[in-house]
Amino acid sequence: MNEDLKKKLGRLGYDVGQLNAVIKACDEINSLKKEKNAVILAHSYQTPDIIYGVADFVGDSYALSRAAQKADAEIIVFCGVRFMAETAKILNPSKTVLLPAPGAGCSLADSISASDVREMKAENPGVPVICYINTSADVKAECDACCTSSNALKVVEGIPGDSVIFVPDQLMAANLQKLTSKKLIFWRGKCVVHESFDARKIAFLRAKYDGLKILAHSECAPDVVAACDMSGGTGDMIDYVRKTDAKYYMLVTECGMHERMVAEFPDKNFIGMCALCPYMKMTNLQLIKQVLSKPAQSQVVEVDPKVARAAGRTIERMFEISER
Ligand code: SF4
Repeated sequence: MNEDLKKKLGRLGYDVGQLNAVIKACDEINSLKKEKNAVILAHSYQTPDIIYGVADFVGDSYALSRAAQKADAEIIVFCGVRFMAETAKILNPSKTVLLPAPGAGCSLADSISASDVREMKAENPGVPVICYINTSADVKAECDACCTSSNALKVVEGIPGDSVIFVPDQLMAANLQKLTSKKLIFWRGKCVVHESFDARKIAFLRAKYDGLKILAHSECAPDVVAACDMSGGTGDMIDYVRKTDAKYYMLVTECGMHERMVAEFPDKNFIGMCALCPYMKMTNLQLIKQVLSKPAQSQVVEVDPKVARAAGRTIERMFEISER
């Protein structure tokens, strides 16, 4: 474990002093994990010391939801943001779910409330509501199905009706609108990370690097997506890199994905182009150690049971449609 950790972090420029400090902290956390019967789930945007040093499972929102549902440890430590930890609690309510950084929100999830969804439903009676997984449990409880970036089109197409209310990501909705004949009625939320990318910069870098393949997250603006070779979720990006053989790759998404690629594909060349998510980067090894040792009340994730049941149906509908 430590040799692999050293190799991967070494590729990312960690020096000997940093490596030794990371290994010491990871050893302490991994012992605590066993002692407390805990499992650590981490999103791909977390820092590499978490991903390679202590996480038992790393993935995108969809894969993490499934992993949380199947977890049989007593404690799930969620290294990600609040809506993800809520989803874990909804899908596996008998477990204790801990969020090391309780202030880790998300500009998309925080852009919309349950009452906003109720108003949209009142204005568009009978129109089904699909929410992106980046929403609070309260919002999910008001919707008919949720989706992730990798299955959004399938869920939109799979839900009955000619129109769909799609919340909260307006950029993802604009990208989806180009792919579906259904009318999308959307909210005004945006991801602070993905809205920051500029199609002109992408065009500049494409001209500079011959043989460059550019991968954009589907939370980016439509002109950015149009300037790239593929768009999708983080899992789709990893698959694309694994299955293709380009001279260079560039990932237009959060910096954690670029680091994962550099660490995991040492024989491929990656051009840096990323933005940091301030929420995802709130979690660190010190907080993980503290939350496992003695969690504060604010780090224990609770979802009202009635809300959890309704939100759970919305998530299960996504599983049902996307796995058809
Ligand atoms: S990257 Fe964007 S969508 Fe993901 S948690 Fe950060 S703000 Fe939310």
